[in-house]
Amino acid sequence: MSPSRQTPRREQEYREPGKLSPALASIYSDVLRRNPGETEFHQAVFEVLETLAPVLEARPEYLDTKLVERVCEPERQIMFRVPWQDDSGEIHVNRGFRIEFNSALGPYKGGLRFHPSVNLGIVKFLGFEQVFKNALTGLSIGAGKGGSDFDPKGRSDSEVMRFCQSFMAELHRHLGEHTDVPAGDIGVGGREIGYLFGQYRRLTNRWEAGVLTGKGLEWGGSQVRTEATGYGNVLFTLEMLRARKEDLQGQQVVVSGSGNVAIYTIEKAQALGAHVLTCSDSQGYIVDEKGINLDLLKEIKEGERGRVADYAERRGASARYVTDGRVWDVPCDVALPSATQNELDEDAAWTLVRNGVRAVSEGANMPTTPAAVRVLREAGVAFGPGKAANAGGVATSGLEMRQNAERDSWSFDHTEERLTQIMRDIHTSCHETAERYGFPGDYVAGANIAGLERVADAMLAQGLV
Ligand code: NDP
Repeated sequence: MSPSRQTPRREQEYREPGKLSPALASIYSDVLRRNPGETEFHQAVFEVLETLAPVLEARPEYLDTKLVERVCEPERQIMFRVPWQDDSGEIHVNRGFRIEFNSALGPYKGGLRFHPSVNLGIVKFLGFEQVFKNALTGLSIGAGKGGSDFDPKGRSDSEVMRFCQSFMAELHRHLGEHTDVPAGDIGVGGREIGYLFGQYRRLTNRWEAGVLTGKGLEWGGSQVRTEATGYGNVLFTLEMLRARKEDLQGQQVVVSGSGNVAIYTIEKAQALGAHVLTCSDSQGYIVDEKGINLDLLKEIKEGERGRVADYAERRGASARYVTDGRVWDVPCDVALPSATQNELDEDAAWTLVRNGVRAVSEGANMPTTPAAVRVLREAGVAFGPGKAANAGGVATSGLEMRQNAERDSWSFDHTEERLTQIMRDIHTSCHETAERYGFPGDYVAGANIAGLERVADAMLAQGLV
């Protein structure tokens, strides 16, 4: 059930420098040489480079000024020791990361991930994706990403608090509302953001609301931030379907994951009349023929920090819990991967195509492998890349920073309206850019090129940075 940590051979063969133009192949070879063993980072860079040939032809100044090389190299990489003590007094040592990737458009911005799989290559791939994503939002936010190989699963609140305090004891010196503004990601939700903010405030003696986003509503958080990534992905999917004169109403939808992104993806898809059949975690998935009961799922996941297996036990006859196979085996019209990277591989893509899928849109970051993306695109499936489709989360973080700067707080409806408009604008920008460069309907090329152009033009204007 859980996606392989190893990149399969077929996937590796798919991304060889020889498949790129000579200029781009040389850039990619340098990335491979300088970042050994960072397979997810290589994958993320390759996925962008393979769409850039036309833009480099149209904008030779990007090549002359080594713009793409500069975009592929983080501005700063921070790694640090995080020692902490568990409830029984045992000492643990984890590793913390913050990759400050690009600040041409604003302060570094991007989430923190706490998961045992976290390593430098994963944080760098996430930071690299964030460069394009944040540019696509049209807001003044640069790109960063961070986290730790700490596993919050099964830890008490006080253990999580002690870990967060130790993590922030080092990280705080690199942060600031005008410098670097983290948020949540896998394993980092409202509880962790609270502990991190409390420690930052003690260490700096400053009430600096704009230093973290995803805060509680009573102390500087924004309405809709919790819902934003999932809602945003559904809104992006709707725009892709509308561009093909289709709708979400009555569609059968498969969602993976059962965390923040998955839950609010299900909520929005149901509100727009879709029938959501599934959710999952790393141990198995649920198929609920009556449609996922969101109140029950929220109670288990948000209230009790439980597993999806508990859902099947409490839901009754309509739901079954499956531990072998993949959620992508369930026939659907729309698939919304919302768990983690590389969870939807080439075989899964073929299964989806055979079952008649019409749209796949990434709530998670890079959940679809490059070979799977190729299968979906060649089959004419509308495909929304995470850089564009899940940008609603960081966009609403940008709106949270704006409210913090104004010492204001907006209503739910007003904030959701802003999110909806941003997602429509991102869709339009990807769609139009893809057409302009001769790839109609290709949102991957559209997102990469539109994101690159905004960052690259800012970097050009700012001199050799
Ligand atoms: P959560 O920690 O809230 O939930 C993660 C979900 O994915 C859980 O159901 C988890 O199951 C599952 N999962 C994690 N790792 C694996 C794995 N190796 N195999 C199978 N399932 C797995 O994280 P989020 O919902 O916040 O994030 C989900 C994805 O969305 C990530 O890719 C993240 O980078 C991306 N994203 C998140 C944003 C946000 O605002 N939160 C913004 C943009 C993108 P289990 O409990 O078993 O681990």
